[in-house]
Amino acid sequence: MQKTPLLVEKKNSLHKSTFVVRDRIVGARDFTLIAGPCSVESKAQILEMAAALKEMGAHWLRGGAFKPRTSPYSFQGLKSKGLEYLKEASERYGLPVISEIMSETQIPAALECCDVLQVGSRNCQNFRLLEALSELRKPIFLKRGFGVTVAEYLHSAEYLLKGGNEQVILCERGIRTFETSTRFTFDVNSLIVLQEKSHLPVFADPSHATGVARYVPRVAKAAIAAGADGLMLEVHHSPDKALSDGNQSLSFKEFSAFMDEIRPFISAAGRSLEP
Ligand code: PEP
Ligand code: MN
Repeated sequence: MQKTPLLVEKKNSLHKSTFVVRDRIVGARDFTLIAGPCSVESKAQILEMAAALKEMGAHWLRGGAFKPRTSPYSFQGLKSKGLEYLKEASERYGLPVISEIMSETQIPAALECCDVLQVGSRNCQNFRLLEALSELRKPIFLKRGFGVTVAEYLHSAEYLLKGGNEQVILCERGIRTFETSTRFTFDVNSLIVLQEKSHLPVFADPSHATGVARYVPRVAKAAIAAGADGLMLEVHHSPDKALSDGNQSLSFKEFSAFMDEIRPFISAAGRSLEP
């Protein structure tokens, strides 16, 4: 890999990129909490979830419309309709929304409906997609590929910066190891290494990293302690009935308890959940 400095690299220890998404500054003192279902399942569902999550203090609403599923027989998402429902939820409850796109053809619809576009773990090294996204001036939430090293991950982010898109968020979401007791293995080291090497904001997704809802709060606290700039969490109004990732989704009651539980950890890390 190339030896000359990369655009993703820090120029000095204080170098940190920040950018505004509606009313919050990503990468600064503001801690950004992203919550929502794995998949947008219906208009009623996402509206109900947006209302509840806003009330409980989430900052951005997530929801997958184009779903990357291991099996082609699993629910693939509501696609463009799902994005429209997210947009309606966003307008009604004043929440920025983030959703995943898997191909270039999905970019126009996502631009129309989302504040932030997500590149999922499975597309972390889809270099043509990254090149297309580098031409946008819209924030990109680039998840770490579960088989991608930190050095390779930074090169994926470099594709976005090289094309001129400077609004990039990194997200550790677990890697595949020999361990099978959890869905993936949360790499807390990467949060620290990424912050040391790069000026880009770094988030964590303990939902996909563990695959188990009851483990999520403790891994989230580890991420806060390791300096994460934000979290992405899966929450569902009825996890048992979720069309995807129900096992790792917090119920409303669990999410509400979680918000109370993390408050002192956020303060101790010198960050703030307040608007
Ligand atoms: C998701 O956020 O629902 C998702 C599919 O995440 P990942 O790409 O990290 O598996
Ligand atoms: Mn999911």
